[in-house]
Amino acid sequence: MSLATTATRVWLTRSLRPFLFQSEYDPALDYAGCENLGLYVHIPFCRSLCDFCPYCKVKYDPALCSRYIDALLQEIRQVGRRCPGRKRVTSLYFGGGSPALAADRIGEIIAALEEHFEITEGVGMELHPSDLTEKTLRTLKAAGVTKISIGVQSFGQKFASLLGRRPPDPKAMARVLQKVPFETVSMDLIFALPGQTFPDIRRDIDTAFACGANHVAIYPFIHFTFTGSRVQPMPKGQKRFLLDAVTRYCQSRGYLRDSIWTFGKPGARYSSMTRDNFLGFGCSATTLLMDQFKINTFSVEQYCRRVGSGHLPTALTLRFTRRQRMVYYLFWTAYSTRVDPAGFERFFGVPLERMYGDALGLARALGFAEKKDGIYQMTGKGAFYYHYYENFYTLAYIDKMWGILRKEAFPREIRL
Ligand code: SF4
Repeated sequence: MSLATTATRVWLTRSLRPFLFQSEYDPALDYAGCENLGLYVHIPFCRSLCDFCPYCKVKYDPALCSRYIDALLQEIRQVGRRCPGRKRVTSLYFGGGSPALAADRIGEIIAALEEHFEITEGVGMELHPSDLTEKTLRTLKAAGVTKISIGVQSFGQKFASLLGRRPPDPKAMARVLQKVPFETVSMDLIFALPGQTFPDIRRDIDTAFACGANHVAIYPFIHFTFTGSRVQPMPKGQKRFLLDAVTRYCQSRGYLRDSIWTFGKPGARYSSMTRDNFLGFGCSATTLLMDQFKINTFSVEQYCRRVGSGHLPTALTLRFTRRQRMVYYLFWTAYSTRVDPAGFERFFGVPLERMYGDALGLARALGFAEKKDGIYQMTGKGAFYYHYYENFYTLAYIDKMWGILRKEAFPREIRL
């Protein structure tokens, strides 16, 4: 693990205690009192598996997919029963995998969730470009999906090939998105691929907005050690130049930055990440509550078996210390590029400055953040260093954890 992530963790949590994930779970899952609770559903099936992709996914098999959805409905009932009445939640996001491969059963999943939860901010779904057919989009819309995020990665032949993909046809996308519109159409684009220049990314951004997007997520390429990808990440200096150029360009076009990597036309929003608490369903899905973080098994087979036996499919649980929870909260809230001290105080019952006045003072002195109208706003420099640190965090924590969970369905413990 990198020294930088360990030192930061020790400083911010004021403790040498690691993040300790153990093979146990809380069957009561007390989410009844949680404010700003989101829902996430993972559907791990893909037509073909991309080399560079770190997510939990398996090759699509209709019989396995149908068995998986049955198990998913069971998990939703098991968790839903733990709270009396219908719990008010913000949004529901479907990720994967390619959730649209189960398009015919998405309505059933949403209905099962709606028996226990009142969804107030719409339903989002990640789509593969090949899911963009009129029939599939109409089925999803009729089921209640209001926002979509299309994993384009790149419209250019050269960069799509680097990722083992065929570039999508923007004209065909524009036609179908015109016929079946959604409130938010986001497109994922990858930047920081070898040899990629600002004009390459600008072309992708322009093409995305021209063919129907009102929001884009421009993610840096991250090399996970357990993937088969041979694509090498771009050096830091070039990456910073690109991120700054992309930010300036999007802002000059009037697209608002709503997180480190996402920009949209006013009113368009797509983010499954910035929730104070969330419940995750399906294999590899995570659940974040006030005092715990739990992660479901990555094995589709074991997931179905465990849920079938009447138990939650939790593989590992982290019981937060209070400071660990605060750091987790701040890390993901900062992803939105702003931290509101009032939100922190509402959540933890103590003033932000009393807990982290030294870290915030340092962030301001280094030019990473400014305080405007009582809210900490990340500067362009801060956004780059957040992004840079997030890369370390991903490699030190997520890469290690996902690497183990891909091999072992229920590991005994993981220390990070
Ligand atoms: S990038 Fe998308 S389509 Fe490719 S393996 Fe990952 S989830 Fe599946």
